[in-house]
Amino acid sequence: MRIGILAVQGAFIEHEKQLVSIADHFDEQIECIEIRQKTDLENLNGIILPGGESTVQGKLIRDLEIFNTLQAMILQGVPTLATCAGLILLAQTLENDSTKHLSTLPVTVQRNAYGRQLGSFSVSSNVGEIENFPLVFIRAPYITNVSPDTKRLVSVDQHIVGVEYKNQIGLAFHPEMTNDTRIHEYFLQKVINHSNNQDRF
Ligand code: GLN
Repeated sequence: MRIGILAVQGAFIEHEKQLVSIADHFDEQIECIEIRQKTDLENLNGIILPGGESTVQGKLIRDLEIFNTLQAMILQGVPTLATCAGLILLAQTLENDSTKHLSTLPVTVQRNAYGRQLGSFSVSSNVGEIENFPLVFIRAPYITNVSPDTKRLVSVDQHIVGVEYKNQIGLAFHPEMTNDTRIHEYFLQKVINHSNNQDRF
């Protein structure tokens, strides 16, 4: 399985470490590819969009001509895990920003929703079927609106902070900055299932 991690800016190493730490839980070989140019997108089975600064990431994926292929791959169903700035890149609508990025996830996101000054905080909550997951927030967005067919995975104080829509998982928090690997394992299983299904056709 070739997992591409967008590596133009932000916390991509943390995702890579998380994947390496769980790779031997799976029969398939797991390979991490750092996406820095268009050719890095070839033959990927899964995509991770990390946290960081969405304005910078959005500009770089356009400048490096990664944008169109990346968007097409997500729309074609390649499993995608997006955290924080990654969620902002996926969102169809941004509440306090006129920019639109990949726009593949039918949700509305508010950037820096907890205030610009708030560095970080953490709480624990169930994320879908995963119980008591540590949620780490860093200048995080939250989700203010979702399409009816988007599954809400987790809310904190009435605000949605995690969703799943078809092949896309969008999280306002950072599972890659914890020692809890269950979300990455869930994602890798999704990648494996998707690739195995495709082989059958
Ligand atoms: N505040 C950042 C943004 O708007 C996201 C923060 C993060 O990814 N930790 O892009």
